[in-house]
Amino acid sequence: MKKLLLGKHALVTGGARGIGKAIAKKYAEEGASLALFGTNAAKGEEAVRELQEIVGEKGKVIFYTVDIAEGKQIEEAIGKVLADFGTIDILVNNAGITRDNLLLKLSPEDWDVVLNTNLRSVYYICRALVRSMIKARQGKIINISSVVGLIGNAGQTNYAASKAGMIGFTKSLAKEVGSRNICVNCIAPGYIQTDMTEGLSEGIKEKLLAEIPLQKLGNPEDIAHAALFLASSHADYITGQVLTVDGGMAI
Ligand code: NDP
Repeated sequence: MKKLLLGKHALVTGGARGIGKAIAKKYAEEGASLALFGTNAAKGEEAVRELQEIVGEKGKVIFYTVDIAEGKQIEEAIGKVLADFGTIDILVNNAGITRDNLLLKLSPEDWDVVLNTNLRSVYYICRALVRSMIKARQGKIINISSVVGLIGNAGQTNYAASKAGMIGFTKSLAKEVGSRNICVNCIAPGYIQTDMTEGLSEGIKEKLLAEIPLQKLGNPEDIAHAALFLASSHADYITGQVLTVDGGMAI
């Protein structure tokens, strides 16, 4: 069977671990070359070795050390990506962080770093890449939001604002670039087992689990399957949508 992303170039932020790595792996299995962004260069090189084996000689995998909270670093890195790959067909804005606290205790620093990392980065990266997608008259942009952006969560005003912001951004950009055959969508994951959720207390984990109709946590591959669908030609007529992958948590 023909691979779904054969010859495509994908940029996955946070692609060296967690959900981003599962997405990168799925794309590699389907024949895409990969550009990965992250701050941990050692982890990045480890991922490159693993993914290059999957992609084989015909494809390439490059990790770029970038702090996506910094607009200037993003612009420089995108310049390198375009020099290395020519074009990017699929962009997955996946990298994200949490700095949880109740509003009254939430510092301006923790507000800023979450908004800058999770949301402002999406503006910088899309702005830097959309021109080449418009020229190519094709592109898929997939923003990894969260169910928290849809239903909120006590202790996460900063994170929820960033993830809800991504949804508004996605719908607006979808309207701007639809005429150029560029699809922009969100995935809203629920409670997925990664480093990000590892640190939650047992009490919170139990409470979350009780809210999931499918009665289990998701794994990164569950999100990767959705990200593959949205990146593939099977989703050519889908734009401006939020695909919730949460075991029913947000029903
Ligand atoms: P992890 O904490 O496991 O991984 C986060 C990723 O983001 C890492 O690859 C990390 O790379 C990268 N990253 C973080 N900060 C920066 C930065 N400043 N610059 C560049 N890269 C950065 O998280 P998950 O895999 O769980 O989450 C991935 C996405 O999914 C996030 O946007 C998260 O909000 C969202 N999500 C996750 C859910 C879950 O339950 N896990 C639920 C809903 C949404 P490095 O270490 O190299 O910096």
